[in-house]
Amino acid sequence: MQTSPSRTAHWQSLDVHHHMHPFTDHVELANEKPMVIERAEGVYIYDSEGRQLLDGMAGLWCVNVGYGREEIVDAVARQMRQLPFYNTFFKTTTPAALELAHKLSTLTPEGIDYFFFSNSGSEANDTNIRLAQSYWQLLGRPERKVIISRNNAYHGSTIAAASLTGMASMHDIPACPIDGIVHIANPDWYACAQDMTEDEYGLQTAQALEAKVLELGAENIAAFFAEPIQGAGGVIVAPKTYWPEIQRICRKYDILLVVDEVITGFGRTGAWFGAQTFGIQPDLMTLAKGLSSGYLPISASGVSERVAKVLRSKPGRFPHGYTYSGHPAAAAAALKNIEIMERERLVQQVGERTGPCFQNALARLLDHPMVGHVRGHGLMACVVFSPDKTRRAAFNPLGGFATKVRNHCFANGLVTRAVGDGLVFAPPLVITEAQIGELVHKLRKSLDEVLAHGV
Ligand SMILES: *Cc1c(COP(=O)(O)O)cnc(C)c1O
Repeated sequence: MQTSPSRTAHWQSLDVHHHMHPFTDHVELANEKPMVIERAEGVYIYDSEGRQLLDGMAGLWCVNVGYGREEIVDAVARQMRQLPFYNTFFKTTTPAALELAHKLSTLTPEGIDYFFFSNSGSEANDTNIRLAQSYWQLLGRPERKVIISRNNAYHGSTIAAASLTGMASMHDIPACPIDGIVHIANPDWYACAQDMTEDEYGLQTAQALEAKVLELGAENIAAFFAEPIQGAGGVIVAPKTYWPEIQRICRKYDILLVVDEVITGFGRTGAWFGAQTFGIQPDLMTLAKGLSSGYLPISASGVSERVAKVLRSKPGRFPHGYTYSGHPAAAAAALKNIEIMERERLVQQVGERTGPCFQNALARLLDHPMVGHVRGHGLMACVVFSPDKTRRAAFNPLGGFATKVRNHCFANGLVTRAVGDGLVFAPPLVITEAQIGELVHKLRKSLDEVLAHGV
């Protein structure tokens, strides 16, 4: 295969003239030109100039089994030859969707035994809003409709999911946030609580939920949505006092707990689901990304017996669904993906070996003058920079330093992403201890370059 600059220039020209990117400043992009990713294998991606990069982000937090899995390709091809598509609306179904639903019921926490399929995390969160509100409507409590979410949460980009999201930039359009979604504090101990222990702060932040419930009246609230670890918000891990208190409050006021596991699901935290890692008992779950390791788009809402019983026992149609809900080819990809994770014991590997290795290797960066905080769990982490570590000071502009380090990481062959003053990491779960060493080495090198040259 030829790798001449003209090929890259051709694609970059097509990109400039015909392609609009998600979450991208197109003015900036026009000056910098996109990197064209052409192929991938294992934990590495390759651009159109043949440069190899270690993918510290598993695509977009999703390629859990790594790239180049022929088995998934074959399973999808087999499925597509046999039945490329049939819908699951009304009273038809397909074997692939059923086998996937059954498989998921064996992996998700106790009580989550029903699955409603969608195509993306955003759609699954829309579905969960509808499931939660329908549940209360069917119980004759339609006024129980308010949804509580958290600041800095990321729940997706459809109008409803963007409204659930707790990032101001995503609400900067008249349609968002939709009515009836309110946000409370998120447990960002490093940024918000220098003067408190993590445990004190965790308890206090969880009680923001109780305060909001009392303010609005429990009789008006349908559900609380939260990620076990906030991902796109900067891999924010709650103090250990947080989740038990959240669970207590949801039980006390009879509020559905919706756990968005789009990133934390499928082994990322060293258990199948973040709910298991943190001892959370969800009423609804949001699954996507690692469900198929990104090989094809598919997502699911995990539904507890409590919610399913109500929705399944009342006459009348649940007025919701997507043409491709339970798409057979995507379901086949997800099934094979899960089979690989089980056979290779990837979840155990992250929990016992590579997760702790990754966290320890990153924590050693705390000896660096610019590294103020390292946090994470399993194979997701955030390294936060500070110009004055003792005060946990932020850079001005926020993220200026992190963006420079991110650019050096790319130049040194490492993919990462800047969030505020931090860099986030979520490598494929197949990463080896040697490759973790490579990742941290490239990060430290990039950090030292920026410190030495300031660009
Ligand atoms: C990525 C993400 C979503 C949205 O998923 P899409 O497939 O991009 O719609 C929802 N929730 C969380 C926690 C995510 O990380």
